[in-house]
Amino acid sequence: MLYADVVLPLSLQGIYSYSVPSNIENSIQEGSRVIVQFGKKRFYTAIVFKIYRPETIIPSVKEIIAALEDYPIVIPIQLRFWEWMSFYYMCTLGDVYRAALPSALKLESETYISLNPDFEATELFSANEKKIFYSLSADKPQTISDIEKQTSLSNAITTIKLLVDKQAIYISENIHNSFSAKTVTAVRLSKPYSNDELNLVLDDLKRAKRQQQLLSSFLYLKENNTVIFKKQLLEEADVTPSILSELTKKEILETYDIETSRFDYGETDLDAAHSLNSYQQEAYEKIKESFIEKDITLLHGVTSSGKTEIYIQLIKDAIKDGKQVLYLLPEIALTTQITSRLKTVFGNKLAVYHSKFNDNERAEIWKSLLTSGETQIVLGARSSIFLPFTNLGLIIVDEEHEGSYKQQDPAPRYNARNAASMLANMYEAKVLLGTATPSIETYYNAQSGRYGFVKLDKRYENIELPHIAVINTKELRRKKQMKSIISPPLAEKTKEALSKKEQIILFQNRRGFSSMLECKTCSWTPLCINCDVSLTYHKEQRVMLCHYCGAAYPVPHECPECHTPTLDNHGYGTERIEEEVNNLFPEANIARMDIDTTRGKKSYEHIISKFEENETQILIGTQMVSKGLDFDNVSVVGILNADNLMNHPDFRAHEKAFQLMTQVSGRAGRKNKQGLVILQTSHPAHPIIKYVRQNDYESFYLSQLEERKLFRYPPYFRLISIVLRARDERVVETASTSFAQALRQSFGQRILGPGKPPIARIQSLYIRTILLKIENNASIQKVRETILHHQSEVLKNPAFKSILLHYDVDPV
Ligand code: ADP
Ligand code: ZN
Ligand code: ZN
Repeated sequence: MLYADVVLPLSLQGIYSYSVPSNIENSIQEGSRVIVQFGKKRFYTAIVFKIYRPETIIPSVKEIIAALEDYPIVIPIQLRFWEWMSFYYMCTLGDVYRAALPSALKLESETYISLNPDFEATELFSANEKKIFYSLSADKPQTISDIEKQTSLSNAITTIKLLVDKQAIYISENIHNSFSAKTVTAVRLSKPYSNDELNLVLDDLKRAKRQQQLLSSFLYLKENNTVIFKKQLLEEADVTPSILSELTKKEILETYDIETSRFDYGETDLDAAHSLNSYQQEAYEKIKESFIEKDITLLHGVTSSGKTEIYIQLIKDAIKDGKQVLYLLPEIALTTQITSRLKTVFGNKLAVYHSKFNDNERAEIWKSLLTSGETQIVLGARSSIFLPFTNLGLIIVDEEHEGSYKQQDPAPRYNARNAASMLANMYEAKVLLGTATPSIETYYNAQSGRYGFVKLDKRYENIELPHIAVINTKELRRKKQMKSIISPPLAEKTKEALSKKEQIILFQNRRGFSSMLECKTCSWTPLCINCDVSLTYHKEQRVMLCHYCGAAYPVPHECPECHTPTLDNHGYGTERIEEEVNNLFPEANIARMDIDTTRGKKSYEHIISKFEENETQILIGTQMVSKGLDFDNVSVVGILNADNLMNHPDFRAHEKAFQLMTQVSGRAGRKNKQGLVILQTSHPAHPIIKYVRQNDYESFYLSQLEERKLFRYPPYFRLISIVLRARDERVVETASTSFAQALRQSFGQRILGPGKPPIARIQSLYIRTILLKIENNASIQKVRETILHHQSEVLKNPAFKSILLHYDVDPV
């Protein structure tokens, strides 16, 4: 008997064994998708992890119900990668499975059954089989529970399974319906005509001029095309679709559908790559050299040094060797500009993969890679590390320092940059990490020789780095000169730039109108009912939003405590800045870029292209404007409030502040003219401000390193954060205390907490965290085993049944 251990798309520990029915023994492999029953009435698409034939029969295992296709959808290397991820990030394989597959390939919803319209019976049905078979139809799939209701059979599943075996019905998991390839309509002759016959037909159409015109256009197109698209034909003939209908009615032409790829990026033209300047060429050669010895290399290149051009050369080399390339970007927002750059060179060898594409589109890329379609380069956000590469040779991690490479919620809480190194290792591929502001960990690895290191410190065309002017807002406030969040010097420089038709970017890392409302009379501020956090006022949508659970609240007209209408705005979000800038510069075109204005699939591209085309003069935005965007007419960048970047209670706060400010500043600077950055802060003497102003990464790095060593943080120590949550605060308090106590038996001083995080309740769940700081050289395996051992000891206490627990490995 053949058995298969499968992974279910559920957050359960372990894998589950099923027996393989003999009719699918040959089609099933490791990585195949199969339908299994789990629990009483639930069916899931599972992935086969292991196949084996034990000496003896394993009692009481269920049978696999069906295989969804006869080739594996997940390849062996991916399975190993999943395994590593669930081990390293301390989550279940099911969590990884859920993150990895586009949902069109994953089906966890209620299972649908439909009739096989081609079924021909060769044996008699039982009474129950008949009941079910005749209750179904081919075009209207039904859920199992619907069928049970309709047939009043209490255990329809066994019968359904028998019918599936006979291929009378199939589990029409959404797959059959939801993954539909895109088709376009094409036109062909309805039968093979000879030239003479065609001339006759044309002649016959003398009195139907436009039909004749259409047919001659068709024949003209046919000379050079094997496939003639309907749209193309109608355009060529310049007629309406009804004319075509006439010809199909007369059975001269007919239409048919053909599958197309949704992504048509055109021809590949490797010569369309720019040639590198001498600095870039040197960096490129050093990277190649470094790849000989090191698997991972850091390219530390200042903003606008042309890192993308170097990547393009490296990609060219890889695909000439027949290898695939994964180009990771931290944020889908960035793909627009890079896609248009890459597609001119790589055309249809390029595919873009990210969450704003719908499921079908993502499933299509997945399948295209599996079937070694044309795709050789994938440009994508973090989830593209899960794609089925067969021959990966190079991974580029652009803006490697970005926190958004880390998935925060749900599990797997992986960091795509770090996971990419593991992935590359499995494929024996190379990794290039690129950034102007390396993360401390990466730079440390480069300095210590673990990674190769290449530096590029000239901007393309020797454009100077911007001048950074620090404005002391505390001083200005004392002098009563800060009438708005725009300081007088910033207002003046903005005005100047506008008059010269130059552009301005204003950066504020808060969305919404104000960070909160406060009653001037009694100091009341609105809080979220479910979370311990104050609400952000969104004026445009006329609501107060909780940025943690998403709850929306109406805006009160008066203070609900003291009933005076004295609610006042506190703090500045991008919406409020937009309003003020509008008041200051009513004649300017202003755009705002934050999560609220970029929800639609194309809205981001829209904002960017308008700014690129100089239709917008002032762009206001959150950290979205800081990332890798390349505009050539921005002369002024304003950082409106550096203080709220630096004042986070987090060991990475200074690192993030430095990176953000340097990156935003990098947007300023034009050919032949140095850009200007106006940095507003009430702590002008803060060391981070100094490092940013002097563009002194090295000193910044050394100062951080010292702190990290002193306080036992990465890169010297690894962190694992243990998060416990429960509705009952007492339960979470006692559980976390016991857990921390138990952990201390093994880890001693390396355990900190339990403590309350800055926001100690989210979505009605009270939160406690325990932090483990462990030496770099400690065994990863042992550490995990020890933690999990204590977890099971502590959590087996029935009082802690309601505890939700997860691990955050290498938190950022
Ligand atoms: P980075 O990613 O290092 O910030 P980019 O790759 O975006 O820099 O390059 C900045 C700008 O300079 C882009 O507009 C890019 O097209 C241009 N550029 C860089 N290198 C070259 C080159 N070798 N030839 C032509 N244009 C280049
Ligand atoms: Zn009040
Ligand atoms: Zn909330």
